[in-house]
Amino acid sequence: MINRHPEPDLLVEYASGSLSTAPCISVTTHLQYCKQCSDSVKSLGEIGGELLATAEAVPVSDELFDRILEGVESVEVEDLSQALPRQCSDAVSPQLPEFVQRLLPDGELSWRRLSPSLKVAPLSVGEQEYELALHRIDAGGKAPEHDHHGKEITVVLTGSFSDEDGVYQPGDFLVREPGNTHRPFASRNQECICLSVLEAPIKLTGMKRILNPFLSFTPS
Ligand SMILES: [Zn+2]
Repeated sequence: MINRHPEPDLLVEYASGSLSTAPCISVTTHLQYCKQCSDSVKSLGEIGGELLATAEAVPVSDELFDRILEGVESVEVEDLSQALPRQCSDAVSPQLPEFVQRLLPDGELSWRRLSPSLKVAPLSVGEQEYELALHRIDAGGKAPEHDHHGKEITVVLTGSFSDEDGVYQPGDFLVREPGNTHRPFASRNQECICLSVLEAPIKLTGMKRILNPFLSFTPS
């Protein structure tokens, strides 16, 4: 069960198409698991298109946003089960959502060991401001306690991990602030693979803008 979702502001930014590649990928990945957010994004896209077509912009209020979400009716979720080319031969590939498989390189992933139980493999998506990567924690393994210089978004893909704040399952979407120290550890019986987006240290203002967007919608 998914307990952690992107903030509403982030979904609005996503629906309006203004997120850069790596954060956009993290939200899309969450949507593979979460019908609730997927439905919200579809409705936001339709409503946002109409609102943006009108003249004077005003900040969207929480009340307006709530009304938008309340107006959401069940919409057909995009069929993501269509066959996709699978050229990545890495052992983890078949365990991942098909959308994530599309991001993998041909051949093997370049796993680098960060600690005895944690490995990372970068994913290249032509993004300069953020690092996109897969993290893999061995079953029962602990990641080293670490701090963040920039914001970090994590989406659990397989398995589960825990930290001081809770247990995270596939689909859970977590945002860690700079300076937030934590020590994740995987469940005992299964390795945990996550997609992570890490803000490049020199690009703090860029991420701040993205996660605290100035929203300008005009109610009609
Ligand atoms: Zn969600």
